[in-house]
Amino acid sequence: MSDKLNHNWINGQQFTTTNSLQVVNPANGETIGEVPKVDAEAVKQSINAAHQAFNTWSNYTAEYRGAVLEQWAHNLLAKQEELATIMSEEQGKPYAEAYGEIGVCAKFIKWYAEEGKRIYGEIIPPSSPQQHISVIKQPVGVCGLITPWNFPGAMIARKVAPALAAGCTVIVKPSSETPRIAIAIFDELLATDIDAGVANIITGSASLISDTLFDDARVRKISFTGSTAIGKSLMKKAADNITRISLELGGNAPTIVLPDADLDQAANAVVENKFENTGQMCNGINTVLVHKDITTAFTNKVIERVKKLKVGPATDKNAQVGPLINHGAIDKVSTLVADAQSNGATVATGGQKLALSDFGLFYEPTVVTNVTADMNIAQEEIFGPVAPIIEFESVEEAIKIANASPYGLAAYFFTNNINTVYKISEQLEFGMIGVNGTQLSVPQAPFGGIKESGMGREGGHHGLDGFLELKYISLSLHE
Ligand code: NAP
Repeated sequence: MSDKLNHNWINGQQFTTTNSLQVVNPANGETIGEVPKVDAEAVKQSINAAHQAFNTWSNYTAEYRGAVLEQWAHNLLAKQEELATIMSEEQGKPYAEAYGEIGVCAKFIKWYAEEGKRIYGEIIPPSSPQQHISVIKQPVGVCGLITPWNFPGAMIARKVAPALAAGCTVIVKPSSETPRIAIAIFDELLATDIDAGVANIITGSASLISDTLFDDARVRKISFTGSTAIGKSLMKKAADNITRISLELGGNAPTIVLPDADLDQAANAVVENKFENTGQMCNGINTVLVHKDITTAFTNKVIERVKKLKVGPATDKNAQVGPLINHGAIDKVSTLVADAQSNGATVATGGQKLALSDFGLFYEPTVVTNVTADMNIAQEEIFGPVAPIIEFESVEEAIKIANASPYGLAAYFFTNNINTVYKISEQLEFGMIGVNGTQLSVPQAPFGGIKESGMGREGGHHGLDGFLELKYISLSLHE
C-alpha cells in the first residue's frame, strides 16, 4: 500500500491533480491528507478506460474474474489493521467497527468471486417445435458507482464486487468525507492481476463527476448509495440517456417491541444497532415503539445499557461511540432533540454535546422518552446516537405508525410469539425485516429498500441482477 493516499486510479495508473480536496479527522478537525479534485476531462479519461477495458474483461471466464476478486479479498485481509486505522481516523468510526468493516468487505468480495460462476441462463419451452428459446445474461457495460461516507469500505465492496464478477467495468466516486479509505481499498484491487482500466476511482466535485457520467451514453448504469434527496435528482438525470440506475437511499427504521418479547434480548439488540457507527447507519433504528405494558421496564433496560457506552476518538481502542461526521450532522441531532423536548418529550439520558475536542462533533448517547410519532425526531432520519421511545397500545397502531413513513428500508420487531412473525413481517412496508435481531447486511441476502428508500438490491444473487442484461434468443430450426 502506498503511504500517501493522494492519488486516483485511471486506466491502471495513479492519477494526481493540482486541485485537491482536504480530508479532515472528525475527532479533532485536523487535516489528514488531500485527494485529487478531478475535472471533466479526467472523468472522460476514466470512461474511455473503462469502455476500452470492457471487451476483454467481459470475455474472461467467470472463474478468472473470481480469481482476481479472491486476490483483492486476500490483500484487504492482509492489511486489515492498517486499513481499519485509515477508515476510523477519517470517518470517526470506532476502531473495532472499522476492523470489522474491512472483514465484511472481504466477505462480500469472496462471495461474489464464487457467485459470478453461477450466472445461469434459461431454456424456455417454445410454442412450436421449430423454435428454440434461450435467455442469456450479459454484463451491462461501464458502471458508475457513487458511495457514501458512513460505510466507506463496505459500500464500495458491495457494488464493485458484483459489478466485476458480472463482467462490468467500473468508475467509483467515493464520498468526499472519506476518499482516503476508498483509495486505500483500490490500491489493494490494483495490486491484483486486474487489467488496466477495469476499475477506476476518481474524487472531486460530486455534481461534476455524476453529470459527466450521466451525459456519456457509454456509461450504462449508475449505482448510487446515499441520501434520498440526491437519489431523486439522479433518477431525473438518468432519464436523458435511459441510464440504468439502482438507488440505496435513506431509511427511518422503526423497531416494535411487543409485550411478549424477551426484554433483555430486545434491549441488547436495540442498543447495539442504534449506537453502531454512532447512529449513522441507513438501516439503523430511528424510533423504538414499545407496548404500553412494558414501556417502563424496557426503557429502563435501554437506559442502563446506554449509560455504559464509552464515547471517544478512534485512537481510544475501547471507544464504542465516536464523533459525528461533520457539523451539519451534529447540528441536526441537537436540533431534533431540542425540538422533541419543546414538544413534550423527555431526555432520559444524554442530550448534550460532549467537550471531548474543540472541534465539537461528539454527542452523548441519548435516550428520549414520551416521544410521539408526529415529532420531527420520529419523522426524520436522525443519523446520530439518539434513541426516541414511542409508546403504543396495539400491534395495529404500531404497524400503522411504522408504515406511515415515506421510507421503507428496514424495520425490526421483537416477539416470542412465532405465530405472528410472518403476519407482522408481511404487513410492514419495508424491504428488510429483522425479527428478534437487527443484523441484515450479509453477502448472501438482498439488502435494499422500497418506497423512498430506493430500488434495486445489493447482496445475494439479486445483487448481480443490477449489473446484468437479459438477452432472449429465438432460434428457428429447419424442418
Ligand atoms: P449523500 O450526501 O447523498 O452523498 C452520497 C454520495 O453522493 C457521496 O459520494 C456524495 O459526494 C455524492 N453526491 C452528493 N451530491 C451529489 C450530486 N449532486 N450528484 C451526484 N452525487 C452526489 O449521502 P451521505 O450523507 O454521504 O450518506 C448518508 C445517506 O446515505 C443516508 O441517508 C443513509 O441512509 C444513506 N445510506 C443508504 C444505504 C442503503 O443501503 N440504503 C447505505 C448507506 C447509507 P460528496 O461526498 O462529494 O458530496
